[in-house]
Amino acid sequence: MSQKILNSIQKIPATFLGNQENRDLDAVSIDSRSLQNGPQTLFFALIGANTDAHLYIQDLMVTGVRNFVVTHIPNGCETKANFYVVDDTLVALQQFAANYRDFFEFPIIGLTGSNGKTIVKEWLNFLLSPDYNVIRSPKSYNSQIGVPLSVIAINEKHNLGIFEAGISTSSEMAKLEEIIKPTVGVLTNIGSAHDQGFLNVEEKIKEKMSLFKNSKVIIYQIDNRVDSFVFPKTKAFTWSFVSKEADVFIVKNRVLDDTILNVQFGEENFDVKIPFQDAASVENASSCLMVLLYFKYDISTIQNRMQLLYPVEMRLKVKNGINNCSIIDDSYSSDFQSLKIALDFLESQKQYEKKTIILSDIFQSGLSKDELYTKVSQLIVSNKMDRVIGIGETISEFKDKFTNCITFKNTAAFIADFENLDFSNETILIKGARSFQFEEIVYLLEEKTHETVLEINLNAISYNLNFFKSKLKPKVKIMVMVKAFGYGNGGLEIAKLLQHHKVDYLGVAFADEGISLKNGGVNVPIMVLNPENTSFAAIIQHQLEPEIYCLKGLHAFLKIAKQKNLEQFPIHIKFDTGMHRLGFEENTIEELIATLKGNNTVQIKSILSHLATSDALEHMDFAHSQIALFEKLSSRLMSELYIKPLRHILNTSGISNFQESQYDMVRLGIGLYGISNDPEEQKQLEDVGTLKSVISQIRTIAARESVGYGRKFMAEKPTKVATIPIGYADGISRGWGNGVGFVTIKNEKASILGSICMDMLMVDVTGIDCKEGDAVIVFGQSPTVAYMAQKLNTISYEILTSISQRVKRVFFR
Ligand SMILES: *Cc1c(COP(=O)(O)O)cnc(C)c1O
Repeated sequence: MSQKILNSIQKIPATFLGNQENRDLDAVSIDSRSLQNGPQTLFFALIGANTDAHLYIQDLMVTGVRNFVVTHIPNGCETKANFYVVDDTLVALQQFAANYRDFFEFPIIGLTGSNGKTIVKEWLNFLLSPDYNVIRSPKSYNSQIGVPLSVIAINEKHNLGIFEAGISTSSEMAKLEEIIKPTVGVLTNIGSAHDQGFLNVEEKIKEKMSLFKNSKVIIYQIDNRVDSFVFPKTKAFTWSFVSKEADVFIVKNRVLDDTILNVQFGEENFDVKIPFQDAASVENASSCLMVLLYFKYDISTIQNRMQLLYPVEMRLKVKNGINNCSIIDDSYSSDFQSLKIALDFLESQKQYEKKTIILSDIFQSGLSKDELYTKVSQLIVSNKMDRVIGIGETISEFKDKFTNCITFKNTAAFIADFENLDFSNETILIKGARSFQFEEIVYLLEEKTHETVLEINLNAISYNLNFFKSKLKPKVKIMVMVKAFGYGNGGLEIAKLLQHHKVDYLGVAFADEGISLKNGGVNVPIMVLNPENTSFAAIIQHQLEPEIYCLKGLHAFLKIAKQKNLEQFPIHIKFDTGMHRLGFEENTIEELIATLKGNNTVQIKSILSHLATSDALEHMDFAHSQIALFEKLSSRLMSELYIKPLRHILNTSGISNFQESQYDMVRLGIGLYGISNDPEEQKQLEDVGTLKSVISQIRTIAARESVGYGRKFMAEKPTKVATIPIGYADGISRGWGNGVGFVTIKNEKASILGSICMDMLMVDVTGIDCKEGDAVIVFGQSPTVAYMAQKLNTISYEILTSISQRVKRVFFR
């Protein structure tokens, strides 16, 4: 592998500057935060909209990295390492991957389509891996960056590749084609997803088909819009549910919970059972079936394997565990690539110093067992895991390769010994192949609460953060407000994610919120908006930074700080410029200056104020007058005290509406959670939270019967009623009852019947095909939080922060 990496990088157009030492390369990285970076890493310094990995090259040199692909060499790094200087590091990464791909001759299946790529990939891996050493792209690594990273993971032992390619706009596919060069093409489907980037459907199809420029065959559901784009040298191998013109004609029949596919292929006619009924799964399974036919599998193997297909769980989930643990659930796959990803995720999310991994045997690496477990142990050492729990025959054999490791022959043996393993105050990564049924372990370790959960999409938070960052002028810093438990979304988890994204500051309302973040391992500076005098000692002890807003508070803080002999303790000064909530008023500025002049006890890190009307364009003039007063007061303070602290005045809607007043920093709040008061901007943000519950009971009542307290709902006709275990004590306002609000069940609206109770509410499911135990969406895509806020005559902030702490938060990406 080493030689191939070196050859591939030497072939890209670049200027080489270096000493040619340390050329033993074994891995490629673009993530400066990964603990896996080391002397054998080739690092590509990518430049994103908001990040520039060149800034971390010096840090990476400390961890031993010596080979970099860069657009320029950072000052002071010359001659200390090997640098390939290129015009564009992303292009270089793609060229490098394409060169690397060329070393391998085996069949590569390339997947594209609007939906189903990842599922088809995972299923094909499951269906083909008994006979091949499969390399596949991890999770949904299907983009301009993900594809090269996936391809680079190929090694000499693999003999089949499965890669997915996703595009959002024209002309991206050609680049992915050069990197994947699939020999077998699969077009999963042409839905309407991501249509925005294309002129029309034809353009989209043409673009997708360009992935198969050099393929021997392309497999797709017959469609005359597609036919004309099949390249002349490529054979089409088609299937259909409707047209006998296709090479394979499939008739589907539902039987109990399964679907029987009757397959007609040339002379053959046979049935294949799959354990699904929904249209998407049946379509995806048909694509898989076609690949098996193309690979000339016999009928009974196809039948045996297809009936074992399973729902694909594609998300890494963070959950609260028993005894104050946090658990990361990745209990559906176990291969080397996905282990690397899970360990990086653990590092970005860990809430406790102590880290444990529960790991099953690892499959399909293509390496010998000895090589494989050597690599796994190196990986685990570099990620500084405190304890390794191995489950499976093979990992047990290689126990000695790990430190602080115990092993069990199987999951049952682990469960039998569970009580002795003492899980507490640690972050636990649970990573295992499906056959090990680690969901049983997750169940044991998971904190038990009732069935209502608020699901938080961490990717959406990252996305929204970057959206607002992209509106900032260069060098403007960002403080993110995580007060009120991250606007109801979970304080520590979100703070950890923000720390990972290197935000400059966090803001909380009260000292205790800041203390729990610090105790949880957050080391980003934290400003406390409303420090009570009684909390000053704790603020100092935990290195929090108080916002000081009045003379009384300033004197009290200085007194304590002097007693403790502090020097230059960071504080923030807030002016009241019109909000009339907290802040020094204009007439106190003389005394403020006099008090602070010549003082060495505190250091003013920033000066701030807060706008009362940043979201209300009818009050534009008022906001401008606030900004003008802020300019005046802050300038005066700076010039009198000879200081140049950060200045900031904008919250979320300020960032959008007063771009010219960003000063040195902005304070992002609600926008992070996917909410904007501007409808256009709202469309560009991603939903972060989905409040979910389940149906506890269903009954049908006759006309003239009633539902709930006070008989507030009277049925006019027979009505099917479902009870959901969420009520006003969970934060659902009573105003949302009596037909005002609704929940979504099976994609249909079910309106709320009668009054909302403390712990439950009832909805009308007449005509909805649902059963007890089915999922219920209380808010998320529909109804949205914004819609609820409007109907309830309040603002999204209140809806989000009202969700009670007894509702479990589940984080995923
Ligand atoms: C809450 C808060 C913010 C963030 O406001 P959003 O409207 O949620 O962006 C900014 N500054 C101060 C002082 C705040 O209290």
